[in-house]
Amino acid sequence: MINASLKQLSQALAAKQISSVELSTLFLDRIERLNPTLNAFVTVDREKSLKMAIAADVRIAAGTAGPLTGIPIAQKDIFCAEGWTTTCGSKMLANFVSPYDATVIHKMHAEAGLVSLGKTNMDEFAMGSSNETSFFGPVRNPWDSSRVPGGSSGGSAAAVAARLAPAATGTDTGGSIRQPAALCNLTGLKPTYGVVSRYGMIAFASSLDQAGPMAASAEDCALLLNTMVGFDERDSTSLDRPVEDYTRDLEKPLNGLRIGLPKEFFGEGCDAEVMAAVRAAIAEYEKLGATTVEVSLPNSHLSVPAYYVIAPAEASSNLSRFDGVRYGYRAPEYDNLEQMYEKTRAQGFGAEVKRRIMIGAYVLSHGYYDAYYLQAQRIRRLIADDFVEAFKHCDVIMGPTSPSTAFKLGEKAADPVQMYLSDIYTIAVNLAGLPGMSVPCGFVDGLPVGLQLIGNYFAEGQLLNVAHRYQQATDWHQRWAVVE
Ligand code: GLN
Repeated sequence: MINASLKQLSQALAAKQISSVELSTLFLDRIERLNPTLNAFVTVDREKSLKMAIAADVRIAAGTAGPLTGIPIAQKDIFCAEGWTTTCGSKMLANFVSPYDATVIHKMHAEAGLVSLGKTNMDEFAMGSSNETSFFGPVRNPWDSSRVPGGSSGGSAAAVAARLAPAATGTDTGGSIRQPAALCNLTGLKPTYGVVSRYGMIAFASSLDQAGPMAASAEDCALLLNTMVGFDERDSTSLDRPVEDYTRDLEKPLNGLRIGLPKEFFGEGCDAEVMAAVRAAIAEYEKLGATTVEVSLPNSHLSVPAYYVIAPAEASSNLSRFDGVRYGYRAPEYDNLEQMYEKTRAQGFGAEVKRRIMIGAYVLSHGYYDAYYLQAQRIRRLIADDFVEAFKHCDVIMGPTSPSTAFKLGEKAADPVQMYLSDIYTIAVNLAGLPGMSVPCGFVDGLPVGLQLIGNYFAEGQLLNVAHRYQQATDWHQRWAVVE
């Protein structure tokens, strides 16, 4: 059961081979045993989870269950969940108990009947690529406990890779679903911007943030994505379009699929062995009937610098709400209101968050706005236009997800620029608002490698199909980390 797919779990629950309470207990016991070493979960609440499982069993017995009712999953601690501590990896929210559900959580709990096993560790306010900026300490990679799981959805990635949960939610502002998926041998999908509601998802950079599934396979991601999407009037950037069934096209043959290979993704900057695994995956696609064509994303080298203007600018604004007044941390001692704000923010935020707030305030300031923020927005448009041009010649774009396999804890922590370059292949996708995936495609020295798939707007169904057919022909995604 531990390594079963969501489809298998769904069938086992429907056939009454196992109850949701039994299944959830299995994973809760595993969390209790293995989480102390991995630190993947920051909050576990057995009683709450089992209550949901009991309710799911009632639905199953009554014949009103959906396909995923009763299946336990892990939730990134960026999603507000009613009655659950929701920390976003920060001291600022360490004691914050949410009074409401994020739309994603509401859909998963109330509509789909999924059982939440707990809240997963993450980089503070989703700022990071290694999970080392979390107030609750780093997460360890199940494939090698001396290494990072990636970030910012590092807790979700480690939880699924170690089978503490069959699947999880993540969020991706610049790579935070895809990069940890790559580093932990998972399949992860960042949908088109606007497809999943951001309501109740703590904001980092609102024009880039998007939630998505992290799981063992594309099929599992499709099933999970089905429960997450849909128009939400409480999110002004949510898109009002017909809801799709993302499992519909999974089996479509890939004959004639045109794969675009951006020459900028196949030059310098990527480990040779990672690149070899990516090229082998592309060769496999050719065997499946696809053809390849070279494309160009001439402005992609500007994506990291543009992102590190735009994302901090938005973050500095979003994080201004954490002032110690209404909720969250408040400094215990102060002489006046101004000092209360200052001390609260000085004590409540970690170093990386402060760095971003300072960069953001700087690039938005009078006198620098035009030179930095406006210029970055112009580059963002050029990057998006590059993709429009590339998709005239291909159906999907492929390349590496991350330039290296999982690095050692502490290896990049002291050098922010090195850390920022972890997302060199993923960030352009967020700037353009496109859907992107990472799919396991091999190992280097026992560490997983991810293949990135980028689709056109609203092509998540196609990406899942392209990933699924590859996973039927290979077994990389079926190799499990040993954590006992
Ligand atoms: N690593 C990037 C950052 O630190 C992206 C994080 C994310 O996608 N949330 O901003």
